[in-house]
Amino acid sequence: MLTANDPNRKSWLDISENSDFPIHNLPFGVFMAKDDHITIGTRIGDYAIDLGALHQLGYFEGIILPEDVFLQDTLNDFITLGKPTCRQVRNRIAEIFDANNSALQGNAEQRDIILFAVEEVQMLMPVFIQDYTDFYSSREHAFNVGTMFRGADNALMPNWLHLPVGYHGRSSSIIVSGENIRRPMGQSKPADADAPVFGPSKLLDFELEMAFITTDGKALGECITTEEAEDYLFGMVVFNDWSARDLQAWEYVPLGPFLGKNFASSMSAWVVTFDALEPYRVEKPAQDPEPLPYLQCAKNTSYDIKLEVYIQPEGGAESLVCESNHKYLYWTMVQQLAHHTVNGCNINAGDLMASGTISGPNPSNYGSMLELSWRGAKSITLSDGSERKFIQDGDTVIMRAFCDNGSQRMGFGEVRSKVLPAKE
Ligand code: CA
Repeated sequence: MLTANDPNRKSWLDISENSDFPIHNLPFGVFMAKDDHITIGTRIGDYAIDLGALHQLGYFEGIILPEDVFLQDTLNDFITLGKPTCRQVRNRIAEIFDANNSALQGNAEQRDIILFAVEEVQMLMPVFIQDYTDFYSSREHAFNVGTMFRGADNALMPNWLHLPVGYHGRSSSIIVSGENIRRPMGQSKPADADAPVFGPSKLLDFELEMAFITTDGKALGECITTEEAEDYLFGMVVFNDWSARDLQAWEYVPLGPFLGKNFASSMSAWVVTFDALEPYRVEKPAQDPEPLPYLQCAKNTSYDIKLEVYIQPEGGAESLVCESNHKYLYWTMVQQLAHHTVNGCNINAGDLMASGTISGPNPSNYGSMLELSWRGAKSITLSDGSERKFIQDGDTVIMRAFCDNGSQRMGFGEVRSKVLPAKE
């Protein structure tokens, strides 16, 4: 079925060895080419590939696809076709670019229409996200934050080991990699003050997360079981869920996150499919206590995805500040989706569900400045000698994610956003 994943397949395109985009990846995205035309595409090596043009030239013959399915500015209609169709398309793309297939390889005129250098295209928001849910599924992150605010004995709330805690976020302010964010203004209450103050957030932070994008779910009132959940998982992106810790700390009682979280979240531009991630499945984390039956899942639905965060000061070099892994998550995406829908809540094609900050067991695995600086108690030193407790104006935060099982490597590219000064 997943012929696109054949590890022995080589492409006739030139691909560097460490590329995130070997022929086994074939993610989906939306780009604008230099003549301003917008299309759905995929990427191999440093080539952006126009799927709209491939379709018009008949390369998807035999697959039932609407004529204009790739001539869209979002992936939603394509995702709505369902995973079996997306799988057929991905398998076909692998065939077209297989080293043994000369059809496109030998046609210079068609290659000119279909292939673009990635630096020549502008990546756009790949999905119209109707709904955004943010989970809180890293035990290490929840424990660290709980320890800071309540002490180690009460770090995890009583519900945490029984359900994947989450909240509904704001989808309108999700932006694609390369777009900058502005430091938010807001209310906060300094610990030594009697009254709140208003001004630019002083404790701006990143959250190292990954997010999955769903296909169309079931009707309102129906639920998706853990056994069915994988049929509804389309693909994943790297996700920086920006947070203003000072705004958040003052506003969050009793209804939870609001303006400290909804001013921006940044996502990577290429959606890597769960089909492509198959070779990187790993054993799911041990869960104790055993979850309720509706959250139990026999299959291994965790993935070994290496994660990195870099801070790049204005005009300076990148400094690696965190290395983590998606496999550290306590609650799996399958469990998150089953929990999300167990009350009958419906999901749609293009909904985005973020993991929550993914921290690991060691301090070098902590996925937020809140944890790395331990709530501002210590500083991180960057390669230019400057120090950070939180993110400063002019800093660019870059997150990268990739899989490497020793024999095969592929990745997600990156998500990067620069912080501009507040509009006071
Ligand atoms: Ca978050």
